[in-house]
Amino acid sequence: MRWALRVGSIYGIAIRIHFTFLFLLAFLLSVGVLAGGWLSGLRSVLFICLVFVCVLLHELAHSYVSVRYGLRVRSIILLPIGGLALLDDLPREPRQEIHIALAGPAANFVLALWLGVLLYVLHPATRFEPVLSGEALLPSLFWSNLYLGLFNLIPAYPLDGGRVLRAWLASRMDYIDATRRAVTVGQFFSLLFMLGGLVWGRPWFVVVGLFVFWAAMAEERVAVLQSALERMYLDDVMLTEFHSLAPSDSLFDALERALHSLQNDFPVVDGGRVVGVLTRGGLLRAFAGQGWRNSVQAVMSSRFETAQRGDTINAAFKKLSSRGLSVIPVLEGERLVGIVTMQNLLHSITFLSRKGAAAFQSIRRD
Ligand SMILES: [Zn+2]
Repeated sequence: MRWALRVGSIYGIAIRIHFTFLFLLAFLLSVGVLAGGWLSGLRSVLFICLVFVCVLLHELAHSYVSVRYGLRVRSIILLPIGGLALLDDLPREPRQEIHIALAGPAANFVLALWLGVLLYVLHPATRFEPVLSGEALLPSLFWSNLYLGLFNLIPAYPLDGGRVLRAWLASRMDYIDATRRAVTVGQFFSLLFMLGGLVWGRPWFVVVGLFVFWAAMAEERVAVLQSALERMYLDDVMLTEFHSLAPSDSLFDALERALHSLQNDFPVVDGGRVVGVLTRGGLLRAFAGQGWRNSVQAVMSSRFETAQRGDTINAAFKKLSSRGLSVIPVLEGERLVGIVTMQNLLHSITFLSRKGAAAFQSIRRD
């Protein structure tokens, strides 16, 4: 996600804070200072920072269970309205999704329990009245965790409760239909949030409602697309009309090919085997220095990834995006039969995300 500062990493999971979060802190500080002086402003900031430590623990709980199920967690991002754990893969098994989703609220309930016990031990006369203020840190944190746990259990997809609902539906019907239904329920709740926010004059509810509405739509698109990409193979989309180079070709030959085609990256083939890849970046760098006198062999990267024509588009997409590659030669056994590039896949995805693509897939597989 853009505009997010990386603040560290835990077990290889990057922790990022969205820059709008800094606005939230500045806002709370100024409101606090205006209402009760600097000390009060700093207390509000401390309180909200501690709440976000709890949000981070909530996301880490999701991440821990995801990793236990063998899913890779790329990063955790903290936004003013909450946190997100970004996974490389979506859990497909309903039971896994339910466990991952419930781990977050469970973390908040455990925290609330600890804080409640601590509160009772320190102040046995405490009356456990709802409070959210920097002036009463311990009780406020207790209530924050209780609210965080309960709020996330609302079955408004993509909140955790909505994910449980989707997983439960997915155990009874097709994954995409389950996602669509969960999204509809989620959007119904998000409209309720917005309406409630307007009626009771709580702008925060409106913001959360808008976010849930938007996030539900975005997640639906990802789910539909991912399942389409898992049912389509490189055979269906790879570029079959392409140029390749030989290691002994000069860079001028390569430039010539690049100029007379739309191709940016070239597989380098020697004796029928792919031995390297010459990328547009490599070619440009060679021409920027004295490297242009070289042969393709000197400039090509010999560390590259290949795919088989029967691999899914999703697998190739992940390879390209996670390793920052620009091209992958597609093989049949050892023989080069095509190439896929990010641009080429994005282009295909635009087509495949249309409804007609489903018909195309069913025709092809019949
Ligand atoms: Zn959660």
